[in-house]
Amino acid sequence: MCSDGIPRSRTRYRQALAPKQELQKLRRLDLRKTQAARLNTIRDINRQIVLNYVREREPISRAEIARETDLQRSTISAIVEELKTEGLVEEVGEGQSTGGRRPTMLRLRTKGAIAIGVAITPTRTMVATSDLAGRVIEEREFLTDADPEKTLPEVIGLVRDFSRRNNGSIETVGVSLPGLVDPSTGNAVYVPFFKWRDIPVSQLISTAVGLPVVIDNDANAVALAELWFGRPEVSDARDFILVLVAEGVGTGIIFDGQVYRGQRGAAGEFGHMVIGTHAPVPCSCGNHDCWEAFASERAAIARYMQLTGVNASPLGFKELVAQALDGESNAKAALIETAHYLGIGISNLVVGFSPEAVVVGGEIARAWPLIENALTETIEHSVRRGLPSAIILPSTLGEQPELRGALSLVLAGKFAAAFAA
Ligand SMILES: [Zn+2]
Repeated sequence: MCSDGIPRSRTRYRQALAPKQELQKLRRLDLRKTQAARLNTIRDINRQIVLNYVREREPISRAEIARETDLQRSTISAIVEELKTEGLVEEVGEGQSTGGRRPTMLRLRTKGAIAIGVAITPTRTMVATSDLAGRVIEEREFLTDADPEKTLPEVIGLVRDFSRRNNGSIETVGVSLPGLVDPSTGNAVYVPFFKWRDIPVSQLISTAVGLPVVIDNDANAVALAELWFGRPEVSDARDFILVLVAEGVGTGIIFDGQVYRGQRGAAGEFGHMVIGTHAPVPCSCGNHDCWEAFASERAAIARYMQLTGVNASPLGFKELVAQALDGESNAKAALIETAHYLGIGISNLVVGFSPEAVVVGGEIARAWPLIENALTETIEHSVRRGLPSAIILPSTLGEQPELRGALSLVLAGKFAAAFAA
């Protein structure tokens, strides 16, 4: 332990707690939000460190945590007891001996559902339970109705059902929405696909089911899922941008290990940045020059229809990707052109933010072998020489990133540091 009580760790926790550079000391305190350091602030920090070691290195023994962190054994034991009592950590038998007694190994408690995630997307709404590690246990879905008086009661019914069947183990509900959300009030400020304005979604669900509800924009929620459950190149980055390609295009900005929200949660609306004219489809806001109108799933489908002249039964984006992966040339061409426009927008973000990584999420990530060249060529061409570029990666969150995002809104609250740095 250092004299300031902050453990010396060889991992990123040390970096998170100790200013890396002189410049970082220049942050101005927000006196409206800062409380005097409480006596147990250091204990809270140590608790989060132990919990996150178990999360990332499980199975791990108390002795291994002590070696990694320089925390005292007695401190770790006390914290582990507390985490066990709270149902966050459990013991899973004995590990290899390094001389003395065989150590008891620890891991995250995986038994039982703790969170419910609700992902409302323009087409489908998914509701699922998950354990503490983010594994989906049960899932149901239905077609989203643009009328909130139809969609929200259906959500409430499923949440209530899951909650009852889990006998009170569900602690919180996370909701992701494809539009502008104010996380502080829990209101959907504006959801362009459904024309929802100022609907108190969080309050309506919370009152009906009797559970706390955390709500956020879909891209922010997916960015949070990448931060906590993504591949290490992403989750270890302090600054990265998640680009969610779906019916629209959304971006979630992770700045210094947390979601950058801006005023009333309105940051990250890059889907509406102007990148050209005469897009193949109108944007959800009605304009024809937004990034979303050039780079969304809808734009790719419109290009495919132009190329083939097919106008009958609307083709789903999933089928378009499947056809392209099968080698169908029009489907490939439509995706590659869409990737080019996706790359133009990403170039602007890279030039403006200089993030460590940009992650592309959504169904389009499955077509990575087909689109990677078009994407990286556009970005390399646009980002000027001499400026640092970012690594561009497909998301590894799987087929339902919005659902993983909704669950992460709850789970991140368990692992994130609640203290002000
Ligand atoms: Zn727009």
